[in-house]
Amino acid sequence: MSESLEIITNAIVLKTVNYQENDKILTLFSVDLGKITAGLKGCRKQNAKLKFAGQPFVFGEFKLIKKGDKYTVATVSEIESFFDICQNWDLLKIGSAMLEISNIVLNEGEPFPNLFVTLLKCLKQIAFETNVAKAVFIKFVLEIFSGTGYEMQFDKCCQCGGAFNTHIILDFDLGNLVCGLCKGNNCLEIQPANYYVLKLISKTPFDRLSSIKFNDKIFYELVDALISNFEFRFGKKLKSLS
Ligand SMILES: [Zn+2]
Repeated sequence: MSESLEIITNAIVLKTVNYQENDKILTLFSVDLGKITAGLKGCRKQNAKLKFAGQPFVFGEFKLIKKGDKYTVATVSEIESFFDICQNWDLLKIGSAMLEISNIVLNEGEPFPNLFVTLLKCLKQIAFETNVAKAVFIKFVLEIFSGTGYEMQFDKCCQCGGAFNTHIILDFDLGNLVCGLCKGNNCLEIQPANYYVLKLISKTPFDRLSSIKFNDKIFYELVDALISNFEFRFGKKLKSLS
C-alpha cells in the first residue's frame, strides 16, 4: 500500500469527463504541478457540494489527495468565477479554445508558471472586459508561440531578413512570416490589413488591447492563420473552434 499525500494548490479546470455513475475526471492546470488529472467523486449527484468544481473555467484552491500516481480532489474553494464566459457563445468559444490550447501545449506533471499566469490573465479579461476578447485571444495564441519556442517575428522576412514589400506570407514549415521571394510550398498569404493588426497586437500589452479596433473579417482570417500554424506546430486539430 502506498501512502497518501495531501497537496494544496491553485488550479484551473481545463477539461472534464464523466466517469462512472456520479464522478468526473478533471484535467487540472496547477500552478505548482502543471497538468494533472484528478478524480472528483460524487460531483454529479443532485446536491453534491463540489458540483461547481466539475466545470471547465473553475479557478480555485484545490486540496488534492495523492495516492501512488493518482490524484483525488478532496475539497475546492473557488478563488474567482469565470461563469460569465459560459453565458455568451462567442466568449465560450474563445475561452474553450484557450483551455484546449493550454491542454495541448502542457506536458503531464511539468509546471509552466508563465502560461498559468497568462491563461489566468486572459480568462479574467475575456470574462470582465468582453469587448477585448478577440484581441486577447489573438495575443494569447502569439504568447503560446513565444512561450513554446515558436515566436513569430513581424518586422522582416524570417528567411532573408529583407522587407516584406508586396507579399506577406505565413510559412507553415517555418511557423513564421516570409517575403514573396522566400515563399515555400506550405503557405498562406496574409493580407496587409490583417498583418498590420497582428503586428500591433503583438506589440501591445494585454491591458492596452482595447485601443486596437478591427472587424470580424480580420479576426476570423487571423484566427484561421494562427490556428493552422498552431495545429501544424503541435500536430493536433483544435476541436473547440470547429
Ligand atoms: Zn525573404
